[in-house]
Amino acid sequence: MAGNKTLTMIKPDAVKKNAIGGILKMINDAGFTIHAMKYTQLTKAQAELFYEVHKERPFYGELTEFMSSGPIVAAILEKDNAVEDFRKLIGATNPAEAAEGTIRKIYASSIGENAVHGSDSDENAKIEGDFHFSACERF
Ligand code: GDP
Repeated sequence: MAGNKTLTMIKPDAVKKNAIGGILKMINDAGFTIHAMKYTQLTKAQAELFYEVHKERPFYGELTEFMSSGPIVAAILEKDNAVEDFRKLIGATNPAEAAEGTIRKIYASSIGENAVHGSDSDENAKIEGDFHFSACERF
């Protein structure tokens, strides 16, 4: 059975565009509730750890530089079938290929600066949720 939690980050590009409120409204309107949330900034080392699976990719340096360049909003979201439904709501990695009405279509600027993160599996949702939140930060 699919899990009911996913981890999102509103990335530095979207925070700079003042899009936090718009993105959270889309998330709530799509039926997700907030299990945990914080406004924070990753260090370069933390971004490198979070994206360690992409270590060998040519964009790893650019990605971790970008993700530590300014504040983000991290949140654990709750809904049935959370991972898959949230990936549908955010759209394709490259906003040029994202479906109309998706968060990335509306708010992302490029494949790198693409407004939001969404976990890609239940297993990673748990790992990423534990990366950002302790037990007493969850409600
Ligand atoms: P996601 O699951 O849709 O976020 O996509 P991936 O797991 O493939 O990539 C993780 C993140 O790396 C993306 O959300 C982008 O921010 C970044 N990324 C992916 N491909 C590229 C690329 O070609 N160039 C750059 N600069 N960043 C990329």
